[in-house]
Amino acid sequence: MGFKNILVPYDNSEHANNALKEAINMASENPEATIHVVEVVAPPQDLVYSSINQTGFGMGVSVVAKGDFAKVVEERNAEQDKELQETIADVVEGFPGTLTAEVVFGIYTIETIIETAKHYDCDLIVMGSRGLGAIRGAIGSVSYGVLRSAEIPVLVVK
Ligand code: ATP
Ligand code: MG
Repeated sequence: MGFKNILVPYDNSEHANNALKEAINMASENPEATIHVVEVVAPPQDLVYSSINQTGFGMGVSVVAKGDFAKVVEERNAEQDKELQETIADVVEGFPGTLTAEVVFGIYTIETIIETAKHYDCDLIVMGSRGLGAIRGAIGSVSYGVLRSAEIPVLVVK
């Protein structure tokens, strides 16, 4: 049987890259498998909070007209999707199965990863043991949180 829907949470780190390679290895054995690469980033705060930053007053006035806001956010998201897809292009080249790569806006990285795994009905999460954080240790806070909260198997790759 094998895993059908693999989520790879990706943060541009070497460990996440190793996780992606491992997921590709696993999925290549199963022609029905799909890989979802997801990078969680903070929502575009500059659009909402620029006036606070500039004036020092707590006025959350958007610099973007209300009607344009969703469009601007969507455009920003599409640019980031493209960047992510370019970043992983070399690693995923030649993968015979289906692969999606997208940036998702989220404040809470762990919860966003868990929700995305549910959204895609994933049966496995493959992620790095560490990420971009400077503090060295066996396992980072995101992998720790996902391991604790996920209801599906999690493979943590060094
Ligand atoms: P910390 O963030 O706790 O300082 P760290 O950066 O070394 O430590 P984690 O952030 O836990 O470690 O990263 C472990 C793995 O979690 C990464 O290899 C990646 O797979 C995933 N991950 C981390 N941050 C994100 C993110 N923003 N979006 C998607 N996946 C992420
Ligand atoms: Mg981190």
